[in-house]
Amino acid sequence: MRIILLGTPGAGKGTQAKILSEKLHLPHISTGDILRQNVKQGTELGLKAKAFMERGELVPDELVTQMLVQRIAQSDTRDGFILDGYPRNIIQAESLDAMLLKEDVKIDFIFYLDADEAVIIQRLMGRLVCSVCGANFHIKNMPPKNDMVCDNCGGRLYQRDDDNRETIKKRLEVYRNESSPLVQYYQKQQKLYRLSSNEEPEVVLGKIMRIIEKRHDCLKN
Ligand code: AMP
Repeated sequence: MRIILLGTPGAGKGTQAKILSEKLHLPHISTGDILRQNVKQGTELGLKAKAFMERGELVPDELVTQMLVQRIAQSDTRDGFILDGYPRNIIQAESLDAMLLKEDVKIDFIFYLDADEAVIIQRLMGRLVCSVCGANFHIKNMPPKNDMVCDNCGGRLYQRDDDNRETIKKRLEVYRNESSPLVQYYQKQQKLYRLSSNEEPEVVLGKIMRIIEKRHDCLKN
């Protein structure tokens, strides 16, 4: 099964992708995570991407698309994947369509997570990320049991450099200008499900799972 999660930063794509990945036994592919890893390791890609990420701008399409082609070519994606953070504009969506066409496979579900701006800003300003396993926490909404320590793996929690008020504003502007046309693009392919994601993660997950299970029941009958 191939799933795309669309939505603004802070809409809950990463959180849902992680839970879905475990539930459905599919790899979670987050272009943001792969880029951050490259920045941390100081690779050539990381050095090229760093300044764009710090400014809250999109990393150039050719760099990100090449990175995704390499990731999707790995054998663990044979039965599908959960894509989080790609595509970010129409050019990337067209590149993804071409990649999938070449492999003769299709996207099954595109979930557009829609949250209010006040919720998004509150989530991003308080977000904590585990430096080891990537799990997300929140200073208020989902605090770790021990201060700045990951409940899952004991790794150190940190605040992302781009989760500051100024960069968040820029990322939301970039989303509006470059990513929001994707909703119409995928609506035309009739695979887009629009869901409110203001609620707690379990509630949003329930809505996603009901849609997936309903389609599967239809296929079984
Ligand atoms: P994210 O973790 O998805 O919020 O992404 C963090 C940052 O990584 C973004 O603000 C962009 O600078 C960069 N990025 C992630 N995915 C993409 C993409 N598909 N295209 C361009 N830039 C991306």
